[in-house]
Amino acid sequence: MKVIPTTESRISTIDFNNLGFGAGLSDHVFICEYKNGQWGEGIIQPYGALKQGLGLHALHYGQAVFEGQKAYRQADGRIAIFRPERNWERLNRSGERMLIPAVPKEIFMEGLSELIRLDAEWVPRGENTALYLRPFLFSSSEFVAARPSEEYTFAIVTSPVGELYTKPVKVKIEQHFTRASQGGVGYTKAAGNYGGAFLATRRAVEEGFSQVLWTDHAEHAYLEEAGTMNVAFVLNDTLVTPALSDRILEGITRESILILAKEWGIPVEERRISVDEIVAAAKNGSLQEAFGMGTAAVVSPIDGLGYQGEILPVPAQVNGVAMRMKKALADIRYGRAADAKGWMYHL
Ligand SMILES: *Cc1c(COP(=O)(O)O)cnc(C)c1O
Repeated sequence: MKVIPTTESRISTIDFNNLGFGAGLSDHVFICEYKNGQWGEGIIQPYGALKQGLGLHALHYGQAVFEGQKAYRQADGRIAIFRPERNWERLNRSGERMLIPAVPKEIFMEGLSELIRLDAEWVPRGENTALYLRPFLFSSSEFVAARPSEEYTFAIVTSPVGELYTKPVKVKIEQHFTRASQGGVGYTKAAGNYGGAFLATRRAVEEGFSQVLWTDHAEHAYLEEAGTMNVAFVLNDTLVTPALSDRILEGITRESILILAKEWGIPVEERRISVDEIVAAAKNGSLQEAFGMGTAAVVSPIDGLGYQGEILPVPAQVNGVAMRMKKALADIRYGRAADAKGWMYHL
């Protein structure tokens, strides 16, 4: 791998005591190009402009997918990434759906590791902070015919981040717009899924919510995801979450929380969850918790559901399943608890 270090670090422009989410990008990027049917040698170079022109295929046809994961500064000063191989697998699952050639595991893992080693000072030290890692894969031929690209670029950028949602959020049960449809690309981190969701989210924000709670495409009768997070409920002391389908993104946070729940003896159900069931449970008091699960916020407790112009309150438990999961995952990630499952990848 070729490494071209920056001659001018931008790290002094970052206020590490007030990290938002995803604004300041670190000094270096990793880039690897696919040409003539094969991946070339990776290169790490200073963050900067692309060399491609406006014929760039991904800008026209959206053959583009991404990942989101984090590197943590642990109690003993070491840096570790949470389950990076799961992200590699998912990147290629997304790519397969978009007809993008698979990225070999060595390129993904070595690109991530070398990049973080070089930008180690960008991995923040504050509580609940991390270096957000954004591997992405896009079509990089230059032509305007509607056919698959011949060339692709795999790249990684990183950004020091703080906590995304610190307070419980109100979400709107979305029964007009659709995020994902049967046979579509909802189970992938395809770039267009997010662009397509911005309008619905903007409307919800204008109505005073933080996010939308997506329902199914056909009837808008079943709950599927919370914004860009998976969603879970606690009903009758059981953790209930929508079963995976091609409309649901298979979250690594979701998977990890389900593993912990089973270990802790919490009953888990992966099934269809109707809007009617959750609305009734919120009204009769049997809905104990509702929360989103994802890399950015880990868990994001929901304290209100917007439904047909009403806001149904949901208890925000300070020591419920969501907050206990958040703490358990943080303890493993920051090296305060034993990593019995080998989830942490040390650089
Ligand atoms: C990324 C993502 C998630 C969460 O996945 P994690 O691996 O837990 O970060 C959930 N839903 C959608 C739509 C996503 O894009």
